[in-house]
Amino acid sequence: MTTPVNPDTYYGPSFGALLEQDPEIAELLVSELDRQRSGLQLIASENQTSPAVLAALGSTLSNKYAEGYPDARYYGGCSEVDKVEKLAIERAKALFGADHANVQPHSGASANQAVYGAFASPGDTVLAMSLDHGGHLTHGFKVSFSGKWFNAVHYGVHPETEDIDYDQVEALAKEHRPKIILAGGSAIPRLIDFERFRAIADEVGAIFWVDAAHFIGLVAGKAIPSPVPWADVVSFTTHKVLRGPRGGAIVCKEEHAKKIDRAVFPMMQGGPLMHGVAGKAVNFAECATPAYQDYARQVVENAAVLAQSLGEKGIRPITGGTDTHLSLHDLRGVGVTGIDAEARCDAAGIVLNKNAIPFDPEKPNVASGIRVGSPSVTTQGMGTEEMRVIADLIHRAVTETDGTPDHPVAVEIRAQVTELMTAHPAYPEPAQA
Ligand SMILES: *Cc1c(COP(=O)(O)O)cnc(C)c1O
Repeated sequence: MTTPVNPDTYYGPSFGALLEQDPEIAELLVSELDRQRSGLQLIASENQTSPAVLAALGSTLSNKYAEGYPDARYYGGCSEVDKVEKLAIERAKALFGADHANVQPHSGASANQAVYGAFASPGDTVLAMSLDHGGHLTHGFKVSFSGKWFNAVHYGVHPETEDIDYDQVEALAKEHRPKIILAGGSAIPRLIDFERFRAIADEVGAIFWVDAAHFIGLVAGKAIPSPVPWADVVSFTTHKVLRGPRGGAIVCKEEHAKKIDRAVFPMMQGGPLMHGVAGKAVNFAECATPAYQDYARQVVENAAVLAQSLGEKGIRPITGGTDTHLSLHDLRGVGVTGIDAEARCDAAGIVLNKNAIPFDPEKPNVASGIRVGSPSVTTQGMGTEEMRVIADLIHRAVTETDGTPDHPVAVEIRAQVTELMTAHPAYPEPAQA
């Protein structure tokens, strides 16, 4: 533990009751808080949500059944949750300038399931980015429902630019006439040309869907361009850069509103998780503040410096850098695999993930790359100076340690990580009033 923290601060006053009733679980909540406060969290899809969102998540809204939508529920007693969901919807529409918002999806994958449900039938063709070039499991990968139920055709990145090959997207769209064209993914460091996608979709009469799970927070913070004006529908998660509760949401054009709502409920889901919906409402309001916009800009700046600094040490960023919160790095220059790099960093107090790189010669469970993201460390108030230090620590962990925690260099790196985490704590103890 870096500095002691009172768990009541983040788990609320009912934490004492949990500790008494179930110390086994209570202690795990504390040790997980401790874990998040001890190591550098560089997983690009993770962030540290606010105490206000945690309070909503820990509320009695979890008790309430609210199948349906505000003012049209299948249960009584929905007066208060109706107000909560209306606030979440209004705030989402304002934040993204969207005609319509559905805040009920339980997760990003559930949101995506609903979009398929709204616009496609089993057997229909969907054109999406391939998983091994940065897409997502739910974009037609063969072990996912999306790959089993739909005819998925995949585009990838261009071997030279390592960025989306738009000419290939266009050629595949003309050849396969997909019902849906899907843009977005989990390991795309660059901005996506939504205008080009829109033009291709219009050319073949396809629905243009953006899965903005990863980067929607940067859109909310006005740090990068929005897909909302271009896409028919945008699905996203609320727990990545956006920094809200774990969950999903969908915004769309008015003409698709009914279809999307029916696809979320009753087609794909039962009762919404109203504590999560409340957390989303709290988060959307947080994201509309100048402070969050400053945060989003800093996330991008930090990611760029982290990517560049790793590149200077021979850990090359795919596409040469990043415009977003994440970068993908080719480890072949330093002769280490992704799986080894992940383990070595973990033993040195740095949490990141191995990742396949485009045209990766290794199997996905070995991989030649790592993915790093700046959302969590930026939430902690770290800036570009710390990113240079972190790049150095990653490079040393990857090239000088062996994955055992007592390797002397790993011990040294962990001490430096503790220094960073003490200067910029995650979940700091608030100043006493
Ligand atoms: C994270 C992610 C998802 C899935 O979100 P879950 O909440 O884990 O289900 C879907 N699409 C993309 C592009 C993602 O990055």
